[in-house]
Amino acid sequence: MRVLITGVAGFLGSHLCDRLINTGHDVIGMDNFITGSRDNLVHLAGNPHFNFIKHDVANFIFVPGKIDLVLHFASPASPNPASPFGYPNLPIQTMKAGALGTHNTLGVARAHNARYILASTSEIYGDPQEHPQKEDYWGHVDPIGLRSVYDEAKRFAEALTMAYHRYHNLNTGIVRIFNTYGPRMRLDDGRVIPNFIQQALRQERLTIYGDGKQTRSFCYVDDLVDGILGLAFSTESMPVNIGNPDEFTIIELANLVNSLLDNPSENIYQVGKVAGDDPLRRQPDISRAIEILGWTPKYDLKSGLLKTIPYFKEKMGLNDL
Ligand code: NAD
Ligand code: UDP
Repeated sequence: MRVLITGVAGFLGSHLCDRLINTGHDVIGMDNFITGSRDNLVHLAGNPHFNFIKHDVANFIFVPGKIDLVLHFASPASPNPASPFGYPNLPIQTMKAGALGTHNTLGVARAHNARYILASTSEIYGDPQEHPQKEDYWGHVDPIGLRSVYDEAKRFAEALTMAYHRYHNLNTGIVRIFNTYGPRMRLDDGRVIPNFIQQALRQERLTIYGDGKQTRSFCYVDDLVDGILGLAFSTESMPVNIGNPDEFTIIELANLVNSLLDNPSENIYQVGKVAGDDPLRRQPDISRAIEILGWTPKYDLKSGLLKTIPYFKEKMGLNDL
């Protein structure tokens, strides 16, 4: 297959790209580097199965040659306003990637009669009132909250994808991705696992936003790639949650990271909440992924963190210590 991946210089896009190339496919990667990095692509320089187009997906997209599959992953993804790469600091760009970028990439898929996969998110459930979250839950999103630029762009993107499916008969799929971590996450985008690993490696106190009783369910990136490509190579058109259902409070995560990195357990402290609409609980119900794709995650949080930590050590120049 010849696959167009938008957001290819980012964390998830670059892992999807590597897996596709390693399994015999050709990738056209597209990115404007607003939150991504060339570092995630340097190993592909000169690879005949990879081509790169620097382009903002909010503008009309032209791709030479036939495309069989489009994976639309371009979007800022971190909610942390303390980072310049967090979407609260890129609000218009985030809405344009989700709205105009989805429209343009759907147009590419339609022109090529290609399968289309939208990277949606657990954030479309907002601060959920149902737990765990199933795909038939409609969500609880503040349309003008700090996270709304991301949440509502993704909700619009899902609606537009279903419109192309229903009206143009396009072969589409929607993956609702829950918190994912692993090598190639930006060190400075403010997401919780990069923050905690770096703080623990420096033997600093881990910054717990709020009381730390909010929960998340963390999926290791290799598992996520398995699930996404399972969906991409299926014909499923309704949304599918992909994530690890093991749920942790942020305090439990902090204690685990501290114990894995020999940082004293008292090295945590509470600071103000990241945003008023920081969801209190989040856990995927993955029954549909199990039933339709035969997919379940293989890595528990500890084993995934142990595969992630060496990347941060290397990026922080701590390998020789
Ligand atoms: P990331 O920031 O590492 O990657 C996003 C990439 O998209 C970056 O390389 C960025 O430069 C690029 N990009 C952004 N706007 C663009 C534009 N207008 N034109 C071209 N390129 C653009 O983030 P990620 O964690 O890899 O997330 C990738 C996708 O997965 C996003 O759509 C995100 O919403 C979704 N997602 C991620 C998670 C997660 O836990 N990582 C969870 C839910 C959904
Ligand atoms: N968080 C935290 N300390 C940090 C960064 C994040 O306590 O240094 C919390 C954040 O408030 C949220 C959770 O960790 O409740 C996950 O945050 P992240 O930004 O990774 O992603 P989210 O799931 O909120 O999109």
